[in-house]
Amino acid sequence: MAKNLTILGSTGSIGVNALKVVDNLGSALQVVGLSAHTNGELIISQARAYRPQRVAVSDPATARTVEKALAGSGIEVLAGPAGLVELAADEAADICLNGLVGAAGMEPTVAAVKAGIDVALSNKESLVMAGDLITGIQRRSGSRIFPVDSEHSAIWQCLTGEDQADIRRLILTGSGGPFRTRARETFGAITATEALNHPNWSMGRKITIDSATMMNKGLEVIEARWLFDLPAEQIAIVIHPQSIIHSLVEFTDGSVKAQLGLPDMKLPIQYALTYPRHAPARWEELNLVRIGELTFSDPDLEKFPCIGLAYAALKTGGTAPAVLNVANEEAVYRFLDGEIRFVDIPNLISAALEHHHQQDADELETIRQAGAWAREFARKWRPSGTPG
Ligand code: MG
Repeated sequence: MAKNLTILGSTGSIGVNALKVVDNLGSALQVVGLSAHTNGELIISQARAYRPQRVAVSDPATARTVEKALAGSGIEVLAGPAGLVELAADEAADICLNGLVGAAGMEPTVAAVKAGIDVALSNKESLVMAGDLITGIQRRSGSRIFPVDSEHSAIWQCLTGEDQADIRRLILTGSGGPFRTRARETFGAITATEALNHPNWSMGRKITIDSATMMNKGLEVIEARWLFDLPAEQIAIVIHPQSIIHSLVEFTDGSVKAQLGLPDMKLPIQYALTYPRHAPARWEELNLVRIGELTFSDPDLEKFPCIGLAYAALKTGGTAPAVLNVANEEAVYRFLDGEIRFVDIPNLISAALEHHHQQDADELETIRQAGAWAREFARKWRPSGTPG
């Protein structure tokens, strides 16, 4: 019987790949919901091709255009952020793939988990901001979270059949991004074009900048803490520029398991949708001989202070990771808009964490308020020495 699938963020990088997985799996999946923010043209063509029952368009003006275009098709159009949350909680779906970007993905995840729907989670910001809240709701609703982030998918696959008590540590791999070998003294001159040029992965703009600052790896450490219920001390990072080993698990006897594959998001997306099975696919195969060499090094914490900030926020706990996440998001967009320098991104986040009064993060409203505070702080923040 076909599994009913909702894809949140279907016009983004993850969403477009998810629809390729749907094409690959044929009749095993039925798309019942799709969502977009401002890409009306693409969501209209996706809706015509996949015939979902409902689409959500979070930008109200785009929603009106989409509604007109789909009039008479029988496809319902939900508008605004509330429409997105409504679609996430739609029980017509067996599984909801959350491919949204940034903090906007959190409330839809909370809604799906509350409704008892399984979530294939690509939006790492959900667990970064609300890991405590979401795992608490999960225990009551029975909703399961299947990781789509490639590192977490790798760890999940390595843990099949294993006992939690036997884990010594998780080792997240990271490519090191475009500035792995660039001299630290030249970081002040990094341009947005340079930062958007990732060596291995083709992704959206926000996560590509997060990879360049390595905040992406920091956010993934926090995500792993909640997905696998392990403390920060048991989650390590190793740099692996080829992006072939997607992550590893070390067990108490010293045995280490790894998961390998080409850097292609279709693989972890498909596994989250077919779990516990691996389904046939025709995409490019991993050829280890052609790759030849796999190399590893420690992350450079001085060049990439975002990693340390993420570990610090995780250790502080409560609303600190939510503040880290939202301050980072604003800093990334301000960098892309040419308002601050690349090296100001960690400075801004560090200032936000310093000024924030941390609270328990077990209520949605508390997390919302911490996020709103961080957004306001980050928008007003000025690098020291510049007029305010
Ligand atoms: Mg990742």
